[in-house]
Amino acid sequence: MSSDIKKIGVIGAGQMGNGIAHVCALADHDVYLMDVSDEGLEKGLESIRKNLDRAVARGKMSQADMDACMGRISSGTSYDGFSDCDLVIEAATENEELKKEIIRDLCKIVPEDTIIASNTSSISITRLGTQTDRPGKFVGMHFMNPVPRMELVELIRGIATDEETYAAIRELTEQLGKTPVNAEDFPAFIVNRILLPMINEAVYTLYEGVGSVQAIDTSMKLGTNHPMGPLELADFIGLDTCLAVMNVLHEGLADTKYRPCPLLVKYVEAGWLGRKTGRGFYDYSGEEPVPTR
Ligand code: NAD
Repeated sequence: MSSDIKKIGVIGAGQMGNGIAHVCALADHDVYLMDVSDEGLEKGLESIRKNLDRAVARGKMSQADMDACMGRISSGTSYDGFSDCDLVIEAATENEELKKEIIRDLCKIVPEDTIIASNTSSISITRLGTQTDRPGKFVGMHFMNPVPRMELVELIRGIATDEETYAAIRELTEQLGKTPVNAEDFPAFIVNRILLPMINEAVYTLYEGVGSVQAIDTSMKLGTNHPMGPLELADFIGLDTCLAVMNVLHEGLADTKYRPCPLLVKYVEAGWLGRKTGRGFYDYSGEEPVPTR
């Protein structure tokens, strides 16, 4: 049961990993946050600090609680800190081979009853689970971005995930103050199965010259009451992640309606990955984002 989950490991300190570490520490768990790069780790910890600072400034949290929360987070670039974790959540880059390698390495160090979860946006939980020595204790735990603010967590059971693991993760999700939904293990699950084709279509709309970046985002914000336009949202998610999800949908469902827009591919090839690299469909180098097309 989740009450047995005390220390939580998080692999990858990017926008999702640091958000997951944040909410777990806030819910009184000890956390070990790991990244391959020192720079990635520092950026991740800085981001948690900034978000908590903001909560203190708004009077939502005391300075003492913030210090205690930061104090529960340890970090490093090695796997050693996972050796006493009850749960490890993998939140590294959306790349199947990379995730498989991480999961194989992780199994060498964690106790046999440790639950392993992946925050993948799209990759088969069943397939990732085969890389472990414990497919029954492997599960999908798909947080939304930004993690501290978004309420939903999709829980994905691989074909081998056991009931006890699923129940423990469900209970933990609620204890973190989130709402779990069950999604079956099909490419991109529920949220991204619906959201990413819409974003991809927005990129096609731009590619075919139907509208400019601004026209497309304004249309969807004012015309359908979406809080963010699809291109703005794509930049926020990360264009590499968007492309990776479209590729999983395209390959996994073998339907041409999921083919990634060539313009999305081009942006990723250019290293224009959105907010995290300072440029995507918008340029973020100035005070205000400026559309690039
Ligand atoms: P990101 O690019 O912000 O962060 C990825 C991090 O993983 C980087 O800090 C990188 O250094 C680290 N990393 C790469 N290889 C590693 C390794 N071998 N070991 C440890 N760390 C490693 O990406 P992100 O947006 O945080 O996405 C992470 C995961 O979360 C992906 O699977 C993604 O699909 C999923 N996800 C993303 C979103 C979103 O909106 N961006 C939403 C839900 C889920």
